[in-house]
Amino acid sequence: HTGLVAIVGRPNVGKSTLLNRLVGQKISIVSRKAQTTRHRITGVLTEGAQQFIFVDTPGFQTHHQNALNATMNRTVSQVLNEVDVVMFLIESGRFGPDDRKVMKLLPQDAKVVLVINKVDLEEDKGKLLPFMQQMSGEFPFAEIVPISAERGSNVPELLTTVGKYL
Ligand code: GDP
Ligand code: MG
Repeated sequence: HTGLVAIVGRPNVGKSTLLNRLVGQKISIVSRKAQTTRHRITGVLTEGAQQFIFVDTPGFQTHHQNALNATMNRTVSQVLNEVDVVMFLIESGRFGPDDRKVMKLLPQDAKVVLVINKVDLEEDKGKLLPFMQQMSGEFPFAEIVPISAERGSNVPELLTTVGKYL
């Protein structure tokens, strides 16, 4: 199976770190001009019979938010609807206004995996479960997966989880 996977989230949540961690040395050579119709390919990973194509969704940058009107927001949602899975990244214990802005653009009918990154920064591990429970009430996430992109913790499990939806 081959599937398109978008990684979205406000700046600094760890999207690039996760992509590097996922694709790592296994990065396929992708032409800089390689494009799907409405996505820019940022990485390709082949794991056994599965191929993950990681894509950027143009217009999904929070710093363009001020210019985003309702029509553009709909366009972003439509574009995200074309992918098989959306990975929505936030930081452990933090769900702020900028995260919420991104979340509001997520299509309701797509498979969205909430990725709680930087769990290594959380000193009180007992806070993770309540935070996951809080987040499950914010959006109909298909899955919620805590990781540390920097350390690589739980990243293989994230890939397995995403792979279920390809
Ligand atoms: P992006 O803007 O979403 O692409 O975020 P980056 O991947 O550039 O990461 C932003 C910062 O967070 C960098 O300094 C990363 O080293 C750091 N970072 C990313 N993932 C983790 C993590 O799992 N744990 C910790 N402690 N830092 C992380
Ligand atoms: Mg980045």
